[in-house]
Amino acid sequence: MIEMQSRAFWSKVLALSLLLSTVTPTSFSHRTHSKAMANDQIAPTPSSIAPKHTQAERKELFEKISLLSGIPWQYLAAVDQYEKTMNASKKRTIQQPITNFYFSDANWAGKLNPDQQDTNLKSIAFFHGFGKDGSGDRIADRANDLDVLAAMTAILGKNGTKVENLQINLLNYYQNPRSVERIKQFAAIYETLGTLEANAHAFPLPVTADYSYRSTWGDSRGWGGHRSHEGTDLFAGYGVPVRSTCFGIVEIKGWNPYGGWRIGIRDLNNIYHYYAHLSGYQKNIKVNDIVKPGQTIGWVGSSGYGKPGTSGKFPPHLHFGLYRDNGTTEWSYDPYPSLRRWEREDQNKKK
Ligand SMILES: [Zn+2]
Repeated sequence: MIEMQSRAFWSKVLALSLLLSTVTPTSFSHRTHSKAMANDQIAPTPSSIAPKHTQAERKELFEKISLLSGIPWQYLAAVDQYEKTMNASKKRTIQQPITNFYFSDANWAGKLNPDQQDTNLKSIAFFHGFGKDGSGDRIADRANDLDVLAAMTAILGKNGTKVENLQINLLNYYQNPRSVERIKQFAAIYETLGTLEANAHAFPLPVTADYSYRSTWGDSRGWGGHRSHEGTDLFAGYGVPVRSTCFGIVEIKGWNPYGGWRIGIRDLNNIYHYYAHLSGYQKNIKVNDIVKPGQTIGWVGSSGYGKPGTSGKFPPHLHFGLYRDNGTTEWSYDPYPSLRRWEREDQNKKK
């Protein structure tokens, strides 16, 4: 029975090649392989250097595969995006031009397969490799996007395509609840935004407000009880709006003894944006909300360094931090260069 279902499924997936041959323009093949560097600190994001229509075309591709596989497009996009962030942090190189899903030789061909470059469907299946054919040529080619998508779809939909099933399938594959959590978050962002174009940023304060900040990375202490100073302090008056710096999802909101009233937002590059010492939150903002760059999330204050509600122990400022996640650990990096860039971009918009 399972065998029959999977056959019906694969014949549908194979139909993809026909569909795609009519919708996929050659522009896909012109894309560079710079996506492995997709990281806003290291290099411009691919969407900013690739042709404008590419993200829309990628979304269309995920939607078509969604129709055929039953897997919601935002989950296909989220897994692909998660893989992109992992490729960047683990310095993995992918072979296919459009998608980002990474397979090692052993994963694709099967760990015990003596031919680690195997493209034969039968022997790959025999050795429990993930390699599949989605292009209809009966070859499992890791450099072919349709083959990679077929393999990815098989992993995602292994035991059903309802959201609960997807999450179990993802946990089986990644063996890491944190990966599943990230993919869920990414899927929620894509579902709300309805687009893959989500790389814009904003400065956390209105550039028209009175504020000052300087590079304080590594200072032995900052304001508000941060021991080793992991962030940038932006000094401004009470009540100056604090705005989201990215498209993202609210991951944490509430009191922290050091950070006071703080909020944490996760973006699609798996970067965590942290805002501390707020005097209050924008009404209605809650965990799992999707936010956009420039959207007000709270106000500058001096909360923190004590029990809930403590404030005024230091001058009002926004403590802003950025944290990167490689799938297992998270570490902070200097937000100052990003802040300067976003500030400049917002200033240019005003002109
Ligand atoms: Zn600080």
